[in-house]
Amino acid sequence: MSKLNRIYFAAFFFFACLLFFPLNILAETIEATVKITTLAPSTIEVRGRNISADVRQKERNFSFLQNYAGIENLAERISQVALFDERASKIDYRKLSSGEYLAESNFSEWSYQINAAAPKNESAKAHVSFIDGEQGILMLGDLLPINVVENDNRETLKITFELPSDWKIVSNEKKISERVFEIADVEKAVFYIGKNWREKEIDISGDQVKFLIFGERQFSDAEAFAMAEEIYAFYKNLFGAEPNQKALIYLSKFSSAQSHGRWEAETRGSNVTIFSAEMPFKTQSLQRLHEQLRHEIFHLWMPSRLNFSGNYDWFYEGFALYQSLRVGVTVNRLRFEDFLDTLARAHTIDNLQSRKISLIEASKNRWNGANTQIYARGMLVAFLCDALILQKSKGKNSLSDVFREIYQKHKLPAPRQDGNTAILQILESREELRPITENYVKNARAIDWRTTLETIGIESVEENFQTKLKAKEKPNGRQKDLLDRLGYNNWRKLRKVQNENQ
Ligand SMILES: [Zn+2]
Repeated sequence: MSKLNRIYFAAFFFFACLLFFPLNILAETIEATVKITTLAPSTIEVRGRNISADVRQKERNFSFLQNYAGIENLAERISQVALFDERASKIDYRKLSSGEYLAESNFSEWSYQINAAAPKNESAKAHVSFIDGEQGILMLGDLLPINVVENDNRETLKITFELPSDWKIVSNEKKISERVFEIADVEKAVFYIGKNWREKEIDISGDQVKFLIFGERQFSDAEAFAMAEEIYAFYKNLFGAEPNQKALIYLSKFSSAQSHGRWEAETRGSNVTIFSAEMPFKTQSLQRLHEQLRHEIFHLWMPSRLNFSGNYDWFYEGFALYQSLRVGVTVNRLRFEDFLDTLARAHTIDNLQSRKISLIEASKNRWNGANTQIYARGMLVAFLCDALILQKSKGKNSLSDVFREIYQKHKLPAPRQDGNTAILQILESREELRPITENYVKNARAIDWRTTLETIGIESVEENFQTKLKAKEKPNGRQKDLLDRLGYNNWRKLRKVQNENQ
């Protein structure tokens, strides 16, 4: 699952600087070099300097990201920190804790080393920088000091990479020359480095999607590329985005063999990173890949292009999960029964939560045990919203209209807003959704969906604390229409079209 956790740092000192310096002086103020010094063990040396040192006269703290997406002690990888003033004289500092340093006077240049060995927990590979053999992922959010990461929209960073000569580097960032990039949003910048991957640039009505595949798979590259194209085109149509967007998809394999079916992914900005293990059979592996791409490609729009602040993970995770199921049914990659089974499992999980907290609260505590609840309850809320909109509009509208409205109103460069407030406002503008947001998003009431299920022709049975769902055997006309809108008859319809075309 994606664990995109937005880190939002306020750059207070910078507002003060803006009072004294005209904007044009601030263009491109930081230069950094990221150099791979050794490959075994993987070590990176980072050097940087603030070109307009005045901006940072008051800056004496030097610190690094500690935790991300539940992965802890990241700053322990940092060593050999050195700080310098503008005359290149060394500045003394105190190490307050791992990744936290306090300089004795102002500094404008810095260098340090990073142990970039692959994380022991393989799941972390989708979320943090590492180099492993001939593949590496460099994520500037954990590679650079926080004071560089946090200034993302106000200063430009020019970064140079020194890599083994036969390695490639691929990124969505603006390329100035070979291995030199200009970064606008440091926190979201990702670089894929290494050799021996396969790649394809796919044009989807004016959008460029680059897909890199690392490692041998049961399915062919062409099958994976075609899948990404189909899913991207589906969402592009759903959200109604402009052309000329760029996206990168990186698919790699877990190295350990005993992890059938496991996968871990993150969408950061316009970069999708997926690590997965094979399933016993090729058809299952392909089905899994489809599921991964449906979920992660959704994130390229939400939350990546929404200008929201705060923790609204319940929405972009729960609703991504639900929408991914809906797309699966629509394009006939998922049976309607499996769609219902997934919803039923989420209901069982939600029922079994001993400590019920609202989705708003759960989103604040995502990495402290609330992650499962966000996905399960978030998905159920999305389903209920979809069902109620379908019912109220007699099948004319659906949750897709809500997605489109949120995206069109809040996509960049719309002004930054609190995500929870903006989303709740749009959901609550539909009268039928008010009880849902009140009971299940803002409060932690047990989900009672019997009436809604009945109106759309689905039966629910609870046995031994397990929820089971199935479509009614004899739905009435109205129920039949709504079931069809949810994709109940898709499989049959497709078969009919195929037969007619033969
Ligand atoms: Zn996700």
